[in-house]
Amino acid sequence: MRTIGVIGGMSWESSALYYQWINRGVRDRCGPLHSARLLLDSLDFSQIAHWQREGDWDAAGEALAASARRLEAGGAECIVLATNTMHKVAAAITVATDLPFLHIADPTGAAIRRQGMDNVLLLGTAFTMNEDFYRSRLREKHGVHCLLPGEQDRAQVHRIIYEELCAGVTTETSRDTYRRIVAAAQAEGAQGVILGCTEIGLLLRQDDSPLPLFDTAALHAQAAVEFALGDVA
Ligand code: GLU
Repeated sequence: MRTIGVIGGMSWESSALYYQWINRGVRDRCGPLHSARLLLDSLDFSQIAHWQREGDWDAAGEALAASARRLEAGGAECIVLATNTMHKVAAAITVATDLPFLHIADPTGAAIRRQGMDNVLLLGTAFTMNEDFYRSRLREKHGVHCLLPGEQDRAQVHRIIYEELCAGVTTETSRDTYRRIVAAAQAEGAQGVILGCTEIGLLLRQDDSPLPLFDTAALHAQAAVEFALGDVA
């Protein structure tokens, strides 16, 4: 079994899910007492969020590159960056080590295509929704086109992520907001919904949505398990 290196803490609420899902995935595949060989380098999200707000992506990229180097030095055999947003600086990480980088958009795009879909709603932070670094990967590598909520709804989705979900808070009001946004996207022809922020699955469950949900955190964790168990080169 290969050792998985996770850059986490963004936020730790979702890193905890990664830890559970990766271990459960290994247990399900290998047997009841098996667990993953895994290193978690967990960062202080407050500092990362500050750099995001300031637009200092170079500083954030350097911090994540240093994290990847620590994981490599500790024996990790791949890098899993446990946040969608910070894939904006994926290039800074991939040049920092020789390890395979398991991009979060790839298992997501593949899962969408396996369901025969190519037009889905993207929910995530403003960075993930408004900028092209994430959508372009889905479009160019997987042929998946993303619909976005309207401008005011994007602001709401973003606010709820930072003020509530990353702080461990889930409310019915926010769940209703997300439900309403999903319903509007369905009316516009969305076939599914990308939970393109690793905390959204804490709020929105499949029962809340008439459209299939693609939870990036769960799909990314599953990809890590497949790598660890040798399914992927
Ligand atoms: N975990 C979130 C994501 O998947 C948001 C926090 C962050 O900005 O890293 O995008």
